[in-house]
Amino acid sequence: MTTATPTRRRRRLRPVEVADVQRLSDRLTSVTFTGQFDGFEIATPTQHIKILIPFPGEHEVALPPSTPEGPLWPTDGPRPPLRTYTPRRFDPETGRLEVQFVIHGEGPASAWAERATPGDRLAIGGPGGRLPLAIDAGPWLIAGDESALPAIGTLLDALPDDATATVHLEAEDSAQRVEIGGPGAAQIHWLDRSASQNPGSELHRALTTAPVTRETNVWVAGEAGAVRGIRRALLDAGRIDPARFVTRGYWRAGESNHPDHDHGDDA
Ligand SMILES: Cc1cc2nc3c(=O)[nH]c(=O)nc-3n(C[C@H](O)[C@H](O)[C@H](O)COP(=O)(O)OP(=O)(O)OC[C@H]3O[C@@H](n4cnc5c(N)ncnc54)[C@H](O)[C@@H]3O)c2cc1C
Repeated sequence: MTTATPTRRRRRLRPVEVADVQRLSDRLTSVTFTGQFDGFEIATPTQHIKILIPFPGEHEVALPPSTPEGPLWPTDGPRPPLRTYTPRRFDPETGRLEVQFVIHGEGPASAWAERATPGDRLAIGGPGGRLPLAIDAGPWLIAGDESALPAIGTLLDALPDDATATVHLEAEDSAQRVEIGGPGAAQIHWLDRSASQNPGSELHRALTTAPVTRETNVWVAGEAGAVRGIRRALLDAGRIDPARFVTRGYWRAGESNHPDHDHGDDA
């Protein structure tokens, strides 16, 4: 007989269906989901959602029954992988949610995104997460690798028109630039990282020489080890205000399913 246990944390999972898939570059795919989005509200830029990913080769996930304590998972089989992504755009009028996936070569979410097809059925939880920075005119120094492009897009969309922002984006092939948006005064710098370089190495170089003051809001996300190196270097240099400095480890080289609450502040 199949037994089941509720998950530790309460998390409502909503079924969603893929409505559209657009390849933005060799390394980035945009997937638009539709579904029942009652009560789904994005409170701040850079929030995240959890996505339940189909098993390899499958195009849908079986949703477990929902209880007040959370989803009731069968204990006699594997659970579908759960991964963290950024709601890049959400339109409450049409109930369409865009998520952009890095195609990085391995991992269930990347593998699914590579073969995502309209009609695929997944489930999402959230959104969650907070941004401890005031969305003001800045100045801003914003940086990240490809995994942070969607979050940076939400941040730039939220900035006022008169904001001053310098943005550093590291990509394996910066020739394949994607539209990132932002206020008119935003200066966008694409940094090329060859496949043999450590992730975040170009960001480290750019950020440690970037002009900043103690009034600059600084937001950096990407590979967890690189983010820690950047955090330490900027704080040690004493040029920025720690209260205006947000770092997030979005993934870690060699580790599957990196946690969604890595603030990098143990560096
Ligand atoms: C708050 C938050 C928001 C995020 N938003 C996005 C988003 O909008 N889009 C997005 O693509 N990612 C985003 N991420 C990162 C994403 O959750 C991870 O990349 C995740 O590990 C991908 O799952 P996977 O199943 O593909 O790979 P996993 O099974 O987790 O990992 C398998 C292997 O792939 C490597 N790997 C994982 N991610 C990457 C990567 N980006 N580049 C190179 N190698 C990698 C791992 O080190 C591991 O060796 C976000 C993470 C957080 C915490």
